[in-house]
Amino acid sequence: MIDLKSMTLQEITDTLKAMGEPAFRGKQVFTWLHKGARSFDEMSNLSKALREKLKTECILTPPQVARKQVSRQDGTVKYLWELADGNCIETVLMRYHHGNTVCISTQVGCRMGCAFCASTIAGKLRDLTPAEMLDQVLFTQLDSGLEISNIVLMGIGEPTDNLDNVLKFLELVNHPDGMNIGMRHISLSTCGVIPGIDRLAELGLQLTLSVSLHAPDNETRSKIMPVNRAYDVNQLFDACHRYFKKTGRRISFEYAMIDGVNDNDWQADLIAKKLKGMPGHVNLIPLNDVVESPFKPSKRTPAFQRRLEAHGLTATVRRSLGGDIDASCGQLRRKAMEEQQKGDGVRC
Ligand code: SAH
Repeated sequence: MIDLKSMTLQEITDTLKAMGEPAFRGKQVFTWLHKGARSFDEMSNLSKALREKLKTECILTPPQVARKQVSRQDGTVKYLWELADGNCIETVLMRYHHGNTVCISTQVGCRMGCAFCASTIAGKLRDLTPAEMLDQVLFTQLDSGLEISNIVLMGIGEPTDNLDNVLKFLELVNHPDGMNIGMRHISLSTCGVIPGIDRLAELGLQLTLSVSLHAPDNETRSKIMPVNRAYDVNQLFDACHRYFKKTGRRISFEYAMIDGVNDNDWQADLIAKKLKGMPGHVNLIPLNDVVESPFKPSKRTPAFQRRLEAHGLTATVRRSLGGDIDASCGQLRRKAMEEQQKGDGVRC
């Protein structure tokens, strides 16, 4: 079956031409898909014969809302989507002053194994298609009635572990005949897969690269992030410097503050030393308590922030949104999976 929604306008046009259709049909179908059509029957400006043909040869995989939670504190909305094959993923809609931002998933589960993260506990089941990433943005916008202006690829999954599909998604969501969301309004987060960072540097996209650093020294980082055993933190800093030299774009470093693990002054000093020569921004994240994890939130965040700033770095503390609705990575899916094991709730 053909997944038209994962295709570029040109690819759709070529596919339809091969079915004997005129070129302008491509744009018609692309527009319907990117407006959120859930079936070919809705595409009323196509002939009945073409609609029938598309129904037999192509698939559409719009997700269903399996669960939706709205934070009473700050209006954050968390969606648990059920995909066409029954798997579940999460999307979070955050309402910032600079615009409505969606945090989307890129895989069903994750295989990176970070010790503090709920998304990776049951491993990776599969990659998401470009269409499934686009649909998270599109159907969040349609369901909420709120126009989405920013996207962060910081939900479940490791974007560089599914990079071809992620790049295709970026092209689709950026398209002027589609959602038309500018690359400057998109952030991509990686746990530090160096070939992925180098490939992004080569492409020179206008997006913001976020690197989940979480520790500047190999001993600590290898303990909490298995990826560090494949690509160690010194190689990672080198890749970040290469990225900056190539693109001129400032990298944002994510740093979840973990009590007694990565919150020591010497680690702030080491970050500053390693970032010398590039304008890094360190985003300190209050650790979300994951039931299954032994780590606890640090109480040293303000001191650590001051220490970084004393070295001339920009350091911010991420405002925590949706605390009342399990709004951090993988927690809602995790909860639904547990309920499923008990025999109730949605299939995940
Ligand atoms: N795989 C990518 C993107 C998804 S995770 C990456 O690792 O960057 C998005 C961010 O949330 C990452 O920085 C991740 O390390 C962080 N994160 C995961 N679990 C967390 C927790 N319990 N508390 C705070 N941040 C967490």
